Amino acid sequence: MRLLMLGPPGAGKGTQAKRLADRYGASHVASGDLLRAAVAQGTDLGRQASEYMDRGEYVPDELMISFILDHLADNEISDFILDGFPRTLAQAEALDAALAKNGLELEVVISLDVADAEIVERISGRRVCTGCGRTYHVSVDPPSSEGVCDACGAALEQRTDDKPETVKHRLEVYRQGTAPVVSHYRSSGLLVDVDGVGELEEVTKRIDEVVEEAIG
Ligand code: AMP
Repeated sequence: MRLLMLGPPGAGKGTQAKRLADRYGASHVASGDLLRAAVAQGTDLGRQASEYMDRGEYVPDELMISFILDHLADNEISDFILDGFPRTLAQAEALDAALAKNGLELEVVISLDVADAEIVERISGRRVCTGCGRTYHVSVDPPSSEGVCDACGAALEQRTDDKPETVKHRLEVYRQGTAPVVSHYRSSGLLVDVDGVGELEEVTKRIDEVVEEAIG
């Protein structure tokens, strides 16, 4: 299983990618999560990346490409759901080349789409556990006790880049930067558009149908 999950921030990529990874026994590789872990650990890359992340800008390709490709190689990951990478054409071309070098190719690229207004509402209500990383939404999926994680009891917080103004900027950056990635995989025939609006289960079902058709 080698699948890319494209879509604007807040489209539900992370949740759906985790579900697919569990279902197919593949690794869920989320570039944003890996970057946040590097920032928390205070690595060189984390220090360089955090200034871009806080502004809602993309981390430069020269840092990003080696970071993700090294992660795949070092952990010998050949079955994956990639979530948040590639986000630029240069990243997509580098990934394609690295896979081809190992005699591998992508099976399907899912583009999960949701209108901008709904995304701003979804992301500004998102809260993340400072302990285990589980995510909540203040109205759609609140914890049983406000501000506290049901799973581990740690405090919930809003990501710095989840504030409404930064979200709007991240959406513009996504639409501009990632459009060429969508075109690239559309022209190679791998891309399938999936409507990301609706109940979680409904969206999962749409994705499952696409995946079954692609690998079946
Ligand atoms: P995410 O959790 O996927 O929304 O990513 C959070 C932030 O990490 C983004 O706003 C970017 O600053 C950075 N980031 C994650 N993935 C990439 C990527 N593939 N290329 C550049 N920057 C990225």
